[in-house]
Amino acid sequence: MTDIIHLLPDNIANQIAAGEVIQRPASAVKELLENAVDAGATEIQLILKDAGKELVQVIDNGSGMSETDARLCFERHATSKIRSIEDLFSIRTMGFRGEALASIAAVAQVELKTRRAEDAVGTYIEIENSAVRKQEPVQWQTGTSISMKNLFFNVPARRNFLKSNAAEMRHVVDEFIRVAMSFPQLQFTLTHNGAQLFYLEKGSLKQRIVSILGQHYNSKLVAVKEMTDYMNVYGFVGKPDAAKKTRGDQFFFVNNRFIRSPYLHHAVMTAYAEMLPSDSYPLYVLFIEVNPEHVDINVHPTKQEIKFDDEKVLYAFIQATIKHSLAQFNVSPTLDFDL
Ligand code: ADP
Ligand code: MG
Repeated sequence: MTDIIHLLPDNIANQIAAGEVIQRPASAVKELLENAVDAGATEIQLILKDAGKELVQVIDNGSGMSETDARLCFERHATSKIRSIEDLFSIRTMGFRGEALASIAAVAQVELKTRRAEDAVGTYIEIENSAVRKQEPVQWQTGTSISMKNLFFNVPARRNFLKSNAAEMRHVVDEFIRVAMSFPQLQFTLTHNGAQLFYLEKGSLKQRIVSILGQHYNSKLVAVKEMTDYMNVYGFVGKPDAAKKTRGDQFFFVNNRFIRSPYLHHAVMTAYAEMLPSDSYPLYVLFIEVNPEHVDINVHPTKQEIKFDDEKVLYAFIQATIKHSLAQFNVSPTLDFDL
């Protein structure tokens, strides 16, 4: 009998692992936008063709990468963001797993252009099936452009799982909005098949909310701000009369990371109590800042679920904070401030 176990080649291992990180164009949008934010960019362009199936490109004016880093960034577990497991509990960046670019490079054709401010020329790299096909110097502005082309060209089964362009585009826009909402101080644009769908100027959180969710919220936002030693909560909640019958205008961010939390959603809903028309959902855009020691963001690769060390305290805190803000507004409805 011969032995039967063998190690999978890197590109196959990467393709399998990619399934957890990159399910659809929107997953790549999230990862590439977050990388641009982590790179300190102030202007970030997202360009798509065919809802991202043909092209997802992110151009940023961030730090750029050295020639060596430009090659290394496509390796699995290659990251500049953490060095030890302890670092996870003081994390201030959106990324840390070092998996996104490796995953993208395993399931799409990738072109990278990048240059650091201190380098005279930049680096151009083309990757397919996790392997570098071409590398050469390039004239490029400071920052990085990453293009992901023909997603799942080499995994037809997954390509077939992609939905219609309209459906994929909805996912893309959701991810774009989540990142853009949490960084109003950065400029974001989104262009699809040559048409600009979003042009979000740098501004305040209130301006960002209104430019994304609609001008009708302009006079309908109640500011929330509560700072304690343990955590800060700030953002805006909608006035009860602006509540909608449909969901979609509800956002929680923990340390700038979008999260889903039915539990915290409940805390907000109960804070409105009798004020809400039945079966309606108020707008909220709430930022929770806690010491990273108190949260574990390592629960899921897409990091939309996180664990708090004391959820009940958080629930009570959110509920009380929102009640307080709504009560203040009810007592003096003209009270208005920006954040
Ligand atoms: P992670 O973000 O978890 O570190 P990624 O695979 O997303 O992993 O990226 C790998 C590394 O490549 C990052 O840690 C960073 O050093 C570098 N990188 C990725 N995108 C950019 C960018 N837009 N600008 C500068 N550096 C980048
Ligand atoms: Mg990343």
